[in-house]
Amino acid sequence: MKITVNGRTAGTKETGCALCGGTWGDYYEEIDGEKLFFCCDICALEFVNMLREVKKRTGWDRIDELVINGNYSSGRTCVSKRGGREYKFYVRFNEDAGVETFREVV
Ligand SMILES: [Zn+2]
Repeated sequence: MKITVNGRTAGTKETGCALCGGTWGDYYEEIDGEKLFFCCDICALEFVNMLREVKKRTGWDRIDELVINGNYSSGRTCVSKRGGREYKFYVRFNEDAGVETFREVV
């Protein structure tokens, strides 16, 4: 999965956390058969919950590309891509890393 966080490539220890872009920490989670880097287990859980919601709403089995803009407090506006299709959404998490707000952006 190609991931861009606030304009920068992310998802490995070198490039930063797949959700927030942070380069501290040392947490890995396997997602769709791919080992992704996260700064902490909270970011990983938020990412997993976010992907689950996208897959549920689009019916996609996996996601090819994800562009994330924003942060924890303001929420994140994202573009997900699968094949030639695109799904834009806004997501905000609660204190337990769950999806608090999720809406499709048109
Ligand atoms: Zn993070």
